[in-house]
Amino acid sequence: MLGLYVHIPFCSAICNYCNFNRGLYDARLKERYVDALVTEIMGGGPDPGKGGPDKVRPATATAADTVRPAADKVRPKADTIYFGGGTPSLLEPGEVGRIIRACEGSFQLAAEREVTLEANPESVTAARLGAFREAGVNRVSFGVQSFRDDELKRLSRLHGAARARAAFGEARSAGFDNISVDLMMWLPGQRVDEWLESVDSAIDLGPEHVSLYMLEVYPNAPLKEEMARSRWSQAPDEDVARMYEAAMERLGAAGLEQYEISNVARPGRRSRHNVKYWSDGQWIGFGCGAHSTSGASRWKNVAATEDYIDRLVRGESPAIDVHRLSPAERLGDALFTGLRLVEGVDMGMIQARYGVDVWQRYSRDFQPFLEEGLLRREDGRLWLTRRGMLLAHEVMAIFV
Ligand code: SF4
Repeated sequence: MLGLYVHIPFCSAICNYCNFNRGLYDARLKERYVDALVTEIMGGGPDPGKGGPDKVRPATATAADTVRPAADKVRPKADTIYFGGGTPSLLEPGEVGRIIRACEGSFQLAAEREVTLEANPESVTAARLGAFREAGVNRVSFGVQSFRDDELKRLSRLHGAARARAAFGEARSAGFDNISVDLMMWLPGQRVDEWLESVDSAIDLGPEHVSLYMLEVYPNAPLKEEMARSRWSQAPDEDVARMYEAAMERLGAAGLEQYEISNVARPGRRSRHNVKYWSDGQWIGFGCGAHSTSGASRWKNVAATEDYIDRLVRGESPAIDVHRLSPAERLGDALFTGLRLVEGVDMGMIQARYGVDVWQRYSRDFQPFLEEGLLRREDGRLWLTRRGMLLAHEVMAIFV
């Protein structure tokens, strides 16, 4: 089934390390953007069998609650909606509900759907979380990043550790039984023990899911200048390996099992939406800069928020860069992303889908990694060991 991604590009402030497609919150712009989103979603994504972005219908259904099922074609099936950003929790719960209803109008949404809202701790209250839940959200992913105030300050985040803990408690009180926490490692000046303090704090809250990201400092990020000015540096490589391995061990001991390079979850609580990205699935992205992959087609939407809105108002498709994937590209992608999963790649499934014997084609390339203990092969599966996950980019270079 399809996954639906909805991009919300607004933030209350711009963090000094951020490289995402986002801008400062503006109430009027946000309203126009939500109208455009609903219009795009009502276009319905690709026609089944057509495998590409549909021409979006003229913007006639922009008023709230005017969403009706797309009767003129078979509605594709979907079972996840993921509101990512930016800061999706800056939307009003009614706006989130309106977008979900638009998805219901254009897609056959499974009753057992997963609907995730990314949220920043400072942007929620108990009442807002309760209203998001009533609107149809059933999973919250909090961008906590650290449970140390000094680190959060260095990242110019608006929240502190106490607000993050409070937000988590508010989500529980609102009835959310599926909560994820994002943490960021390799922060400027961060020692191994400081990182593990955040990991332990996350465990103490008892989330269903945790994502661990490594901070990447981009050349033009304001944080880079600040690091030079303040003489902050990032820990050496051997410490990063210890950070990663120790975190995975502690999370595993707490019942949060690793299922992907950067993600752990309690049984049955993997991110169903994100697993589509790693298991050769299909998804449609709505909103500025959103990417889609359906069958052999891949496309992305125009990145600038105003440009996106204008195109929808003119009744044009926001899709640009429509690309027909070659069989070799699809195979490379399936292997590249599949190796991110702890279960790795099922070579029999790849053969059935792409007619390629992975072992025969790549065994010579795999050999050095197998000998170094970074890669393993057993019972028709191929997977990265934990040490291999730290050097995943080297192994995955085989498929690029
Ligand atoms: S809240 Fe997230 S998306 Fe927004 S500026 Fe900060 S890091 Fe970027």
